[in-house]
Amino acid sequence: MLLRFAFVLSFIGVVLCSNLTLPEANLRLDRSKTQVCDGVPTAKINKHHEDALKEANTQLQCMINAAYWATTKSHPGDKGGKMHKKYLSMIHDVFGKEANVELINKRVQTLATTTVVVAEDNIPNEKYPKAKGTYATVYDVTRELYLFSDYHAEKNGGQPMTKVSRARVLIHEASHAYEKWTYDWWSAKVQNGKMRSMPVNTPALNLHWAAKEKLDRGEKLTPEEKSHILNPLTSGYWHDGYETLREYMSEMMHDNADSWAVFGYRCLYDKFPVARGPRDKKADPKSVVWNK
Ligand SMILES: [Zn+2]
Repeated sequence: MLLRFAFVLSFIGVVLCSNLTLPEANLRLDRSKTQVCDGVPTAKINKHHEDALKEANTQLQCMINAAYWATTKSHPGDKGGKMHKKYLSMIHDVFGKEANVELINKRVQTLATTTVVVAEDNIPNEKYPKAKGTYATVYDVTRELYLFSDYHAEKNGGQPMTKVSRARVLIHEASHAYEKWTYDWWSAKVQNGKMRSMPVNTPALNLHWAAKEKLDRGEKLTPEEKSHILNPLTSGYWHDGYETLREYMSEMMHDNADSWAVFGYRCLYDKFPVARGPRDKKADPKSVVWNK
Protein backbone atom coordinates (compact mmCIF):
# COMPACT_ATOMS: atom_id res chain seq x y z
CA MET A 1 0.00 0.00 0.00
CA LEU A 2 1.23 3.49 -0.75
CA LEU A 3 0.65 6.69 1.08
CA ARG A 4 0.22 10.10 -0.41
CA PHE A 5 3.55 11.81 -0.03
CA ALA A 6 2.06 14.91 1.54
CA PHE A 7 0.64 12.78 4.32
CA VAL A 8 3.96 11.08 4.96
CA LEU A 9 5.73 14.39 5.06
CA SER A 10 3.38 15.87 7.59
CA PHE A 11 5.01 13.41 9.97
CA ILE A 12 8.33 15.20 9.71
CA GLY A 13 6.79 18.61 9.74
CA VAL A 14 6.60 19.58 6.07
CA VAL A 15 3.71 19.50 3.64
CA LEU A 16 4.40 19.44 -0.08
CA CYS A 17 2.20 19.31 -3.15
CA SER A 18 3.65 16.33 -4.92
CA ASN A 19 2.48 13.13 -6.57
CA LEU A 20 5.46 11.27 -5.24
CA THR A 21 4.58 8.27 -3.10
CA LEU A 22 6.60 6.46 -0.48
CA PRO A 23 5.81 3.03 0.96
CA GLU A 24 3.84 2.84 4.17
CA ALA A 25 5.75 1.14 6.99
CA ASN A 26 4.01 -2.14 7.66
CA LEU A 27 6.27 -4.50 9.56
CA ARG A 28 4.21 -7.50 10.66
CA LEU A 29 4.54 -10.61 12.75
CA ASP A 30 2.95 -13.79 11.44
CA ARG A 31 1.92 -15.57 14.64
CA SER A 32 -0.57 -17.97 13.03
CA LYS A 33 1.58 -21.04 13.79
CA THR A 34 3.51 -19.78 16.81
CA GLN A 35 4.10 -22.11 19.74
CA VAL A 36 3.72 -20.04 22.90
CA CYS A 37 5.33 -21.26 26.13
CA ASP A 38 3.39 -20.84 29.38
CA GLY A 39 4.09 -18.14 31.92
CA VAL A 40 2.66 -14.91 30.52
CA PRO A 41 -1.08 -14.41 29.89
CA THR A 42 -1.99 -14.40 26.19
CA ALA A 43 -3.60 -10.97 26.48
CA LYS A 44 -0.33 -9.54 27.78
CA ILE A 45 1.70 -11.18 25.02
CA ASN A 46 -0.69 -9.80 22.40
CA LYS A 47 -0.50 -6.32 23.92
CA HIS A 48 3.33 -6.37 23.97
CA HIS A 49 3.40 -7.24 20.27
CA GLU A 50 0.71 -4.78 19.30
CA ASP A 51 2.42 -1.87 21.09
CA ALA A 52 5.91 -2.82 19.92
CA LEU A 53 4.81 -3.17 16.28
CA LYS A 54 3.09 0.20 16.37
CA GLU A 55 6.23 1.80 17.76
CA ALA A 56 8.46 -0.08 15.29
CA ASN A 57 6.33 1.05 12.34
CA THR A 58 6.41 4.67 13.54
CA GLN A 59 10.19 4.46 13.64
CA LEU A 60 10.32 2.70 10.26
CA GLN A 61 8.14 5.38 8.65
CA CYS A 62 10.52 8.00 9.99
CA MET A 63 13.43 6.02 8.52
CA ILE A 64 11.72 5.72 5.10
CA ASN A 65 11.19 9.47 4.98
CA ALA A 66 14.68 10.27 6.24
CA ALA A 67 16.37 7.95 3.73
CA TYR A 68 14.29 9.43 0.91
CA TRP A 69 15.43 12.96 1.74
CA ALA A 70 19.01 11.85 2.26
CA THR A 71 19.05 10.56 -1.35
CA THR A 72 17.11 13.47 -2.88
CA LYS A 73 19.49 16.31 -3.67
CA SER A 74 17.06 18.68 -5.30
CA HIS A 75 13.34 18.84 -4.80
CA PRO A 76 11.12 21.84 -5.55
CA GLY A 77 9.70 21.62 -2.02
CA ASP A 78 13.10 21.54 -0.34
CA LYS A 79 14.29 25.14 -0.54
CA GLY A 80 18.05 25.40 -0.17
CA GLY A 81 18.29 21.61 0.25
CA LYS A 82 17.71 21.89 3.99
CA MET A 83 15.84 18.60 4.28
CA HIS A 84 18.45 16.81 2.19
CA LYS A 85 21.29 18.07 4.36
CA LYS A 86 19.49 17.35 7.62
CA TYR A 87 18.66 13.75 6.78
CA LEU A 88 21.95 12.99 5.05
CA SER A 89 23.67 14.13 8.20
CA MET A 90 21.39 11.84 10.23
CA ILE A 91 22.34 8.85 8.06
CA HIS A 92 26.02 9.69 8.55
CA ASP A 93 25.49 9.93 12.32
CA VAL A 94 24.01 6.44 12.37
CA PHE A 95 25.96 4.57 9.65
CA GLY A 96 29.17 6.63 9.61
CA LYS A 97 30.95 8.84 7.10
CA GLU A 98 31.06 6.32 4.23
CA ALA A 99 27.42 5.21 4.51
CA ASN A 100 25.94 3.73 1.34
CA VAL A 101 22.93 6.05 1.33
CA GLU A 102 21.32 4.73 -1.88
CA LEU A 103 21.39 1.17 -0.61
CA ILE A 104 20.11 2.21 2.82
CA ASN A 105 17.17 3.94 1.12
CA LYS A 106 16.29 0.76 -0.79
CA ARG A 107 16.76 -1.55 2.15
CA VAL A 108 14.71 0.42 4.63
CA GLN A 109 11.70 0.16 2.33
CA THR A 110 12.07 -3.63 2.20
CA LEU A 111 12.68 -3.90 5.94
CA ALA A 112 9.62 -1.78 6.69
CA THR A 113 7.32 -4.08 4.72
CA THR A 114 8.65 -7.42 5.94
CA THR A 115 6.46 -10.07 7.57
CA VAL A 116 8.39 -12.04 10.15
CA VAL A 117 7.20 -15.55 11.00
CA VAL A 118 7.31 -16.19 14.74
CA ALA A 119 8.14 -19.86 15.40
CA GLU A 120 8.13 -19.76 19.21
CA ASP A 121 7.28 -17.13 21.78
CA ASN A 122 8.05 -16.66 25.49
CA ILE A 123 10.81 -19.34 25.50
CA PRO A 124 12.12 -19.38 29.10
CA ASN A 125 15.61 -17.81 29.17
CA GLU A 126 16.53 -19.69 32.34
CA LYS A 127 16.12 -23.04 30.59
CA TYR A 128 18.89 -22.25 28.11
CA PRO A 129 22.10 -20.97 29.75
CA LYS A 130 23.37 -19.74 26.37
CA ALA A 131 20.27 -17.56 25.97
CA LYS A 132 21.21 -15.41 28.97
CA GLY A 133 20.50 -11.79 28.09
CA THR A 134 18.91 -12.75 24.76
CA TYR A 135 15.53 -11.30 23.81
CA ALA A 136 15.17 -12.99 20.47
CA THR A 137 16.96 -14.78 17.69
CA VAL A 138 16.33 -15.53 14.03
CA TYR A 139 17.27 -19.03 12.85
CA ASP A 140 19.36 -18.40 9.75
CA VAL A 141 18.05 -21.43 7.84
CA THR A 142 14.28 -20.80 8.14
CA ARG A 143 14.46 -17.02 8.86
CA GLU A 144 11.92 -17.63 11.61
CA LEU A 145 11.90 -15.64 14.82
CA TYR A 146 12.22 -17.12 18.33
CA LEU A 147 11.26 -14.78 21.17
CA PHE A 148 12.49 -15.36 24.73
CA SER A 149 10.75 -14.65 28.02
CA ASP A 150 13.08 -11.68 28.69
CA TYR A 151 11.30 -9.93 25.81
CA HIS A 152 8.04 -10.11 27.77
CA ALA A 153 9.60 -9.41 31.20
CA GLU A 154 8.60 -6.27 33.08
CA LYS A 155 12.25 -5.37 33.61
CA ASN A 156 15.70 -6.39 32.42
CA GLY A 157 18.94 -5.26 34.04
CA GLY A 158 16.85 -3.09 36.36
CA GLN A 159 15.39 -1.20 33.39
CA PRO A 160 11.69 -1.33 32.48
CA MET A 161 10.88 -3.14 29.23
CA THR A 162 8.65 -0.81 27.22
CA LYS A 163 7.26 -0.67 23.69
CA VAL A 164 10.47 1.18 22.72
CA SER A 165 12.72 -1.60 24.06
CA ARG A 166 10.61 -4.25 22.33
CA ALA A 167 10.44 -2.27 19.06
CA ARG A 168 14.24 -2.20 19.06
CA VAL A 169 14.23 -6.01 19.27
CA LEU A 170 11.70 -6.34 16.45
CA ILE A 171 13.50 -3.98 14.05
CA HIS A 172 16.84 -5.64 14.79
CA GLU A 173 15.43 -9.15 14.27
CA ALA A 174 13.44 -8.19 11.17
CA SER A 175 16.71 -7.07 9.61
CA HIS A 176 18.00 -10.66 10.06
CA ALA A 177 14.76 -12.28 8.98
CA TYR A 178 14.69 -10.77 5.52
CA GLU A 179 17.16 -12.92 3.55
CA LYS A 180 19.55 -12.67 6.52
CA TRP A 181 21.32 -9.71 5.17
CA THR A 182 22.48 -8.41 8.50
CA TYR A 183 25.06 -9.67 10.99
CA ASP A 184 25.79 -9.18 14.68
CA TRP A 185 29.45 -10.17 14.72
CA TRP A 186 32.41 -8.88 12.78
CA SER A 187 36.01 -9.73 12.21
CA ALA A 188 38.69 -8.28 9.93
CA LYS A 189 41.51 -9.48 7.76
CA VAL A 190 44.28 -7.91 5.73
CA GLN A 191 43.56 -7.87 2.00
CA ASN A 192 45.90 -6.16 -0.51
CA GLY A 193 47.67 -4.49 2.38
CA LYS A 194 44.44 -3.04 3.75
CA MET A 195 42.43 -4.12 6.77
CA ARG A 196 38.97 -5.20 5.63
CA SER A 197 35.95 -5.82 7.84
CA MET A 198 34.28 -9.19 7.47
CA PRO A 199 30.86 -10.26 8.73
CA VAL A 200 30.95 -13.49 10.72
CA ASN A 201 28.24 -16.04 9.96
CA THR A 202 26.63 -18.29 12.57
CA PRO A 203 28.58 -21.52 11.81
CA ALA A 204 31.93 -19.66 12.04
CA LEU A 205 30.81 -17.97 15.25
CA ASN A 206 29.76 -21.30 16.80
CA LEU A 207 33.15 -22.84 15.96
CA HIS A 208 34.86 -19.81 17.52
CA TRP A 209 32.89 -20.07 20.78
CA ALA A 210 33.43 -23.85 20.94
CA ALA A 211 37.20 -23.39 20.64
CA LYS A 212 37.13 -20.59 23.23
CA GLU A 213 35.18 -22.76 25.68
CA LYS A 214 37.73 -25.55 25.28
CA LEU A 215 40.51 -23.06 26.03
CA ASP A 216 38.63 -21.85 29.10
CA ARG A 217 38.47 -25.44 30.35
CA GLY A 218 42.27 -25.52 30.08
CA GLU A 219 42.25 -28.04 27.21
CA LYS A 220 44.67 -27.97 24.27
CA LEU A 221 43.32 -27.01 20.85
CA THR A 222 44.04 -28.93 17.65
CA PRO A 223 45.54 -26.85 14.79
CA GLU A 224 42.12 -26.89 13.13
CA GLU A 225 40.38 -25.63 16.27
CA LYS A 226 43.04 -22.93 16.59
CA SER A 227 42.15 -21.77 13.09
CA HIS A 228 38.53 -21.31 14.22
CA ILE A 229 39.48 -18.57 16.69
CA LEU A 230 38.50 -15.22 15.23
CA ASN A 231 40.77 -12.33 16.00
CA PRO A 232 39.75 -9.54 16.01
CA LEU A 233 36.12 -10.20 16.87
CA THR A 234 33.59 -7.57 17.83
CA SER A 235 29.84 -7.37 17.96
CA GLY A 236 27.89 -4.62 16.24
CA TYR A 237 25.54 -4.07 19.18
CA TRP A 238 24.95 -0.51 20.29
CA HIS A 239 26.12 -1.32 23.82
CA ASP A 240 29.25 -3.04 22.58
CA GLY A 241 31.28 -2.59 19.37
CA TYR A 242 28.99 -0.26 17.42
CA GLU A 243 31.17 2.85 17.65
CA THR A 244 34.28 1.03 16.48
CA LEU A 245 32.50 -0.52 13.52
CA ARG A 246 30.94 2.80 12.52
CA GLU A 247 34.38 4.34 12.45
CA TYR A 248 36.20 1.58 10.59
CA MET A 249 33.59 -0.06 8.35
CA SER A 250 31.05 2.64 7.75
CA GLU A 251 30.50 1.54 4.13
CA MET A 252 29.22 -1.83 5.48
CA MET A 253 27.19 -0.61 8.44
CA HIS A 254 23.95 -1.41 6.57
CA ASP A 255 24.90 -5.09 7.00
CA ASN A 256 25.00 -4.69 10.80
CA ALA A 257 21.66 -5.60 12.43
CA ASP A 258 21.69 -3.07 15.26
CA SER A 259 22.34 -0.20 12.80
CA TRP A 260 18.67 -0.41 11.77
CA ALA A 261 17.39 -0.28 15.32
CA VAL A 262 19.73 2.64 16.08
CA PHE A 263 18.51 4.40 12.92
CA GLY A 264 14.86 4.04 14.01
CA TYR A 265 15.53 5.39 17.48
CA ARG A 266 17.73 8.25 16.28
CA CYS A 267 15.16 9.21 13.64
CA LEU A 268 12.10 9.31 15.88
CA TYR A 269 13.64 10.69 19.08
CA ASP A 270 16.31 12.90 17.53
CA LYS A 271 18.93 11.40 19.84
CA PHE A 272 20.84 8.17 20.31
CA PRO A 273 19.96 5.45 22.83
CA VAL A 274 21.81 5.78 26.14
CA ALA A 275 25.52 5.54 25.49
CA ARG A 276 27.95 3.29 27.29
CA GLY A 277 30.95 5.20 28.58
CA PRO A 278 34.02 4.59 26.37
CA ARG A 279 36.01 3.32 29.37
CA ASP A 280 33.26 1.09 30.76
CA LYS A 281 34.21 -2.53 30.37
CA LYS A 282 30.66 -3.73 30.87
CA ALA A 283 27.61 -2.36 29.11
CA ASP A 284 25.39 -0.14 31.22
CA PRO A 285 22.01 -1.92 31.45
CA LYS A 286 20.45 1.37 30.39
CA SER A 287 22.28 1.10 27.09
CA VAL A 288 21.07 -2.48 26.58
CA VAL A 289 17.40 -1.83 27.30
CA TRP A 290 16.31 1.15 25.25
CA ASN A 291 13.68 3.55 26.48
CA LYS A 292 12.65 7.03 25.51
ZN1 LIG B 1 21.01 -9.98 15.94
